[in-house]
Amino acid sequence: FLPHLVASMEDVEETYIMVKPDGVQRGLVGEMISRFEKKGFKLTGLKLFQCPQELAEEHYKDLKSKSFFPKLISYITSGPVVCMAWEGVGVVASARKLIGATNPLQAEPGTIRGDLAVQTGRNVIHGSDSPDNGKREIALWFKEGEVCQWTSAQASWLME
Ligand code: GDP
Ligand code: MG
Repeated sequence: FLPHLVASMEDVEETYIMVKPDGVQRGLVGEMISRFEKKGFKLTGLKLFQCPQELAEEHYKDLKSKSFFPKLISYITSGPVVCMAWEGVGVVASARKLIGATNPLQAEPGTIRGDLAVQTGRNVIHGSDSPDNGKREIALWFKEGEVCQWTSAQASWLME
């Protein structure tokens, strides 16, 4: 760990990113991982995982009252997802920008959803909406020991 390479450690955040089952089925996993890697964020957790019903319901508990909730749960559990933890300065908001708007038809070209998806109900990827939810969701989807802390050799070329 090289603290002098990171200007202010309190700005380092973590976010939970997940390729949804349609992204896995459509062969877009590498493409999506690549966008976060190229941006300069650090991958700290990664696994292919079949999400059980209860976990999907817990993850999306704030949307429980929505009419689309049952469809959302069946979508998320319809096949394996790719669970990821990413770390970096401003990673939560930046990942949301890279992902684009919830409705892919409103997502800007250049964003993941803008480039790779058409419908809200098949919008290929999830990203945490706040640093607190980033922590909560990583703890929810990863077991103890599955998230790795490591020092990137690129750090001094990314951060002044
Ligand atoms: P996100 O943070 O951009 O993913 O959007 P939300 O937190 O508002 O919603 C979570 C997920 O629920 C979205 O990514 C969609 O997969 C799904 N969702 C949201 N709104 C709708 C809707 O109106 N219809 C359907 N079918 N799914 C929706
Ligand atoms: Mg959300």
